[in-house]
Amino acid sequence: MTRVNTSKNSFSLDLHGFIGAYETAMCAPVRDLPWAGLPRSPARLALLLLLLASAWAGEVAPLAWLDDERFLLHDTGAGHPESPTRLHTIRAAVAASPLAAGLLRLEAREAERADLLLVHTPAYLDLVEREVAEGRRVLSTGDAMVSPGSLVAARSAVGGLIATCDAVLDGKARHAFCAVRPPGHHAEPERGMGFCIYSNVAIAARHLMERRQLTRVLVIDIDVHNGNGTYAALKSEPRAFQFHLHQHGIYPGSGVRAGAGRADETGEGAALGRTRNVSLPAGSGDDAFLTAIRDQLAPAMEQFKPQFILVSAGYDAHVDDPLGGLAVTTDGYRRIFAELVTIADKHCAGRVVAALEGGYNHQALGAAVVATLEALAGPR
Ligand SMILES: [Zn+2]
Repeated sequence: MTRVNTSKNSFSLDLHGFIGAYETAMCAPVRDLPWAGLPRSPARLALLLLLLASAWAGEVAPLAWLDDERFLLHDTGAGHPESPTRLHTIRAAVAASPLAAGLLRLEAREAERADLLLVHTPAYLDLVEREVAEGRRVLSTGDAMVSPGSLVAARSAVGGLIATCDAVLDGKARHAFCAVRPPGHHAEPERGMGFCIYSNVAIAARHLMERRQLTRVLVIDIDVHNGNGTYAALKSEPRAFQFHLHQHGIYPGSGVRAGAGRADETGEGAALGRTRNVSLPAGSGDDAFLTAIRDQLAPAMEQFKPQFILVSAGYDAHVDDPLGGLAVTTDGYRRIFAELVTIADKHCAGRVVAALEGGYNHQALGAAVVATLEALAGPR
């Protein structure tokens, strides 16, 4: 039995094996963990031992994992690429990883209306509730499928992400991955679109700034599509720095359409200069992402000095993804997140919270999320 006790910012472990019931004061009740099996590779075994040793030593848990059954309630219909099967695939891949045994497991809470109002207008929130109640299958504002369970799922995605950010900020974990759905980065303050209902990451950023008094939050979006919703929500917010990487010319007009990541859009008003858009041609591959992070993001952060890093973690830039074409490999995601951890370790005590956005090749999605976790949990 592996038992984690959280009291304030510290953990104690009672090790009687690797299977455990984890308790957190923040988000989750006691929850059994699946036996993941001993890792076969020496490197992975070392990683597992590192995770367990740091927890055993009373240090902050390296990595938290948010998942919740309510994320499955968002039914997009047969054949839709953004399906609950994505989460099943991710869960299976993570459960098969030795990392599973060392994760601090968190569960979601449903966001309140006040949380959603951090970004969205009252009229839009009313519209979503009304159209779901009417039984519509697509929001009238854009191509976002809805079902009777979508409100609970979308509220849980937002609330879970907020609670996870709080857990990291309060020292319960160093990094976190949130396997949420529906995704959020296309949802603008007044309209859902692009499979997104609520602007998950932008709301979490606003929570950190408005309620936790942070003044420098980095939002990096690595989904293959531009995060127009995040930009719309935060473009006038000087406390947020946005870094968007996307494939030029694809939905929603990435790098081309106004409000969708054009290079000349760098924020507005007091936030002018706080947004950087990097529009990459199809087939760019790992090195283009890594070069942008090393040559553009990292130097900018020397000035901005983020206190917290939120990642819109889309995996549709993967080389095997059916929607995107940026040719990022599974190992590329590992290297991208390793770069982000380097920035986080330098500026903000490692505080990185990643929230799932796109990614539609199931096998690639599972493998890339595990690679992400390995980078987040890796040696420092
Ligand atoms: Zn996408």
